[in-house]
Amino acid sequence: MKIDEAREVRTTCPYCGVGCGVLAKVAANGEVTVRGDPDHPANFGRLCSKGSALAETIDLDGRLLYPEIHGRRTDWDEALDLVASTFSRTIAEHGRDAVAFYVSGQLLTEDYYVANKLMKGFIGSANIDTNSRLCMASSVAGHRRAFGSDTVPGSYEDLELADLIVLVGSNLAWCHPVLYQRIAAAREKRPDMKVVLVDPRRTMTADIADMHLAIAPDGDVALFTGLLAYLGQHNALDRTYITAHTTGFGQALFAASALDLAGIAAATGLGEDELVRFYSLFAATANTVTVYSQGVNQSSSGTDKVNAIINCHLATGRIGKPGAGPFSVTGQPNAMGGREVGGLANMLAAHMEIENPEHRDRVQRFWSAPAVAEKPGLKAVEMFQAVADGRIKALWIMATNPVDSMPDADAVEAAIKACPFVVVSDVLAKTDTVRHAHVRLPAAAWGEKDGSVTNSERRISRQRAFLATPGEARADWWIVAEVAKRMGFDEAFSHPSPAEIFAEHAALSAFENDGARDFDIGAYAGVDAETYEELAPFQWPAPSQGTPLWPAGQAGRPEGGVQAGHSSASTRFFANGNFYTPDGKARFIPIRPVPQTRTNEKFPLVLNTGRVRDHWHTMTRTGKSQRLSQHLAEPFAEIHPADAQHFGIGDADIVRVSTEHGEVLLRALVTARQRPGSVFVPMHWTDQFSARARVDALVAPITDPISGQPASKNVAARVERFAAVAFGFAVLAERPASIDADYWSLARCAAGWRLEIALEADRDWPGFAASLFGADAPGETLAYHDVAGGHYRFARFAGSRLTGALYLAPRPVAVSRGWAVEQLSADHADRRGRLAIVAGRPGGNSVDRGAIVCSCFGVGANQIAEAVRGGCVSVEAIGASLHAGTNCGSCRAEIRTIIEARRLHAAE
Ligand code: SF4
Repeated sequence: MKIDEAREVRTTCPYCGVGCGVLAKVAANGEVTVRGDPDHPANFGRLCSKGSALAETIDLDGRLLYPEIHGRRTDWDEALDLVASTFSRTIAEHGRDAVAFYVSGQLLTEDYYVANKLMKGFIGSANIDTNSRLCMASSVAGHRRAFGSDTVPGSYEDLELADLIVLVGSNLAWCHPVLYQRIAAAREKRPDMKVVLVDPRRTMTADIADMHLAIAPDGDVALFTGLLAYLGQHNALDRTYITAHTTGFGQALFAASALDLAGIAAATGLGEDELVRFYSLFAATANTVTVYSQGVNQSSSGTDKVNAIINCHLATGRIGKPGAGPFSVTGQPNAMGGREVGGLANMLAAHMEIENPEHRDRVQRFWSAPAVAEKPGLKAVEMFQAVADGRIKALWIMATNPVDSMPDADAVEAAIKACPFVVVSDVLAKTDTVRHAHVRLPAAAWGEKDGSVTNSERRISRQRAFLATPGEARADWWIVAEVAKRMGFDEAFSHPSPAEIFAEHAALSAFENDGARDFDIGAYAGVDAETYEELAPFQWPAPSQGTPLWPAGQAGRPEGGVQAGHSSASTRFFANGNFYTPDGKARFIPIRPVPQTRTNEKFPLVLNTGRVRDHWHTMTRTGKSQRLSQHLAEPFAEIHPADAQHFGIGDADIVRVSTEHGEVLLRALVTARQRPGSVFVPMHWTDQFSARARVDALVAPITDPISGQPASKNVAARVERFAAVAFGFAVLAERPASIDADYWSLARCAAGWRLEIALEADRDWPGFAASLFGADAPGETLAYHDVAGGHYRFARFAGSRLTGALYLAPRPVAVSRGWAVEQLSADHADRRGRLAIVAGRPGGNSVDRGAIVCSCFGVGANQIAEAVRGGCVSVEAIGASLHAGTNCGSCRAEIRTIIEARRLHAAE
């Protein structure tokens, strides 16, 4: 593709399912800048901290730029021939189910479409599953049970129109920040709007909540079945809607009545008064949206949770209306696109069903395929178990890192290591998964790729290239199609560009679709390259003229057509009550709460895993940004003060968190935001950034029986203090070649790296410092030793430049991280300044900013606290004084927390 450096390119953020529009520009000197697209209907110009820092993540450091076989550089022909011949031979010798693709919600729809077409239509197996299985498979299963289709009914606009938003298992402030900001802005305009947060932790999202229900892990089924029973008991049902548009209400209400209020209180860990306040608020508020994400989905009862929520909306007729409906928000940028092309092992393309012979026949005819898969394939957890026991002998992993993200991750790593043939397509040369690949295929990255993605409100947007593809990297669709051709499927995979793939995908969605299937973008069937290039974000359905837009049989439905230009006009499914079930009615699902208790004497705590504000997945992109790496610079375990005291753990201690499956070492973060009895650990840290912090090694491979989604938020665990004799902190100009410490965690910072360490036994500290600074590094080392007290400090200078400083102490090191990091960029010609570095204390004019809160402007907690002391007692006042919170706004909740803490402190 020709790259035009003179204009801004409209593209889409590659992180979360909000799907924000981004304007990217490359200056003549090659510098890239990004800003939010003011015309994109998902974000209207907003970006969160991650989106704002995208330009910092596109350098070529660490990129995989050439194909490799067993670590040897090769050319594409040899690599593709080997992949195609090995897959073909494996199929010939062991059958088509002996091969598998494990793909990703980070792929573009066109990549996904081609991979699914090859596996399901031409190899003839359904052994293609995706990391989206870990993200929202329970929502898919719940939608299909209730609606007969995997349909998200509403639009983001509904979040602004609602009078009540119930956020369930969703830390929107950190995981979908722009949606959080849209809600916060709507709430400022309409102060009567209410927000309820249902989450075991008091996350930053509680900042906008009128009510926080600190629910017991997996208590959601009880909460929402209890709500259904309450609605029935308090005459808050829409009987007309139930009769006209649903089936199964009686059984659902009967099942929901299994527990009385006291029973629900016991199952949820909530007080009866809290329950009644929430239930009565829900009953009284017609315009209610229930937003749910991973806290609902990542559970062994995830599908039941989804249906328990949907049941309440069906019972009140609150679906498909402005400001009302259940709303699944996806974690990944293109989880929805993956669902559309059939990227899950139990779905066919274009929302058709693999179990349905008519659908299989239709897809086979459309593709002119030799053998469409006849049964669902292996879901993610099953797939890696099949790799482990040898049923799968050739595995292709695309754009994902299962060694870190799959449950029972150590077993998954062992399975991959033992697999006879592993291909990995990725943008990075070194990830915890790539290191085990026999064949490494360099893929194009964000900014180089061209295609489309679908966000959580069914809006399809283009990702456009604005950078030249480096080295020999290629688009994923091209790589898959080249392998397909070498396997003998030339004609079906001869698309010259993503435009033709999208046109085919759109045509399949419309093929023999008379309104009986929800996913229809027939208006774009056969779209030409020019129209595809200019394609504005649009929401599906978008059928061709004359095709019904909504479920067949729905009275007064509008006709379809292309939505021209940037359209913020919202469409909603089910407005008139027709669904995609055989009888056109939505199905209530009878659900009984079943206890999900897993703790025991040996593992008395519940481990909950999740995201932090400024990192994404396994940090392959955000780990490159020094700005994003400063917010939370090391892996941590969030523990309630009562539990910390019980287990003898102090704040900033190193703790060992273990389960039946493994153990990790993390920094203790003691906070009352955590629920007593639970421990939270972020999912992002890998062997590339920490010694032992791959939290998914701890997660049991327990899955929801319907969706196959792993239960990543309810694992029985134990937490113990790690008996460190020495703690250390270092700043380093270069990443050390190796780190010989029990605990270590590396994060990028301005001009280098920052390192935290802890050790169980003393070392030769001068030798240890030399190994970190680089044995051959030129220059002078200043040192301070307090052998009796166990304090050691080293600083190494090359000329007037600091190349490394190491601080060691028997307790967590108190040196200001922000100040130390800044010393890597400062000039140190002055000897007094050098001594200040060895002392670990800021000199006269240095300011200790404290932990970075605002990533955009580098504003620290100490600066904010100082401004509060100086009279800035609102987020706006802090913004006016320090700029903090005035760009992406992702830190506004934390700023409010600091203001509140200072206010309480002052009142004491
Ligand atoms: S909310 Fe942030 S991470 Fe998500 S799409 Fe928007 S800018 Fe990207």
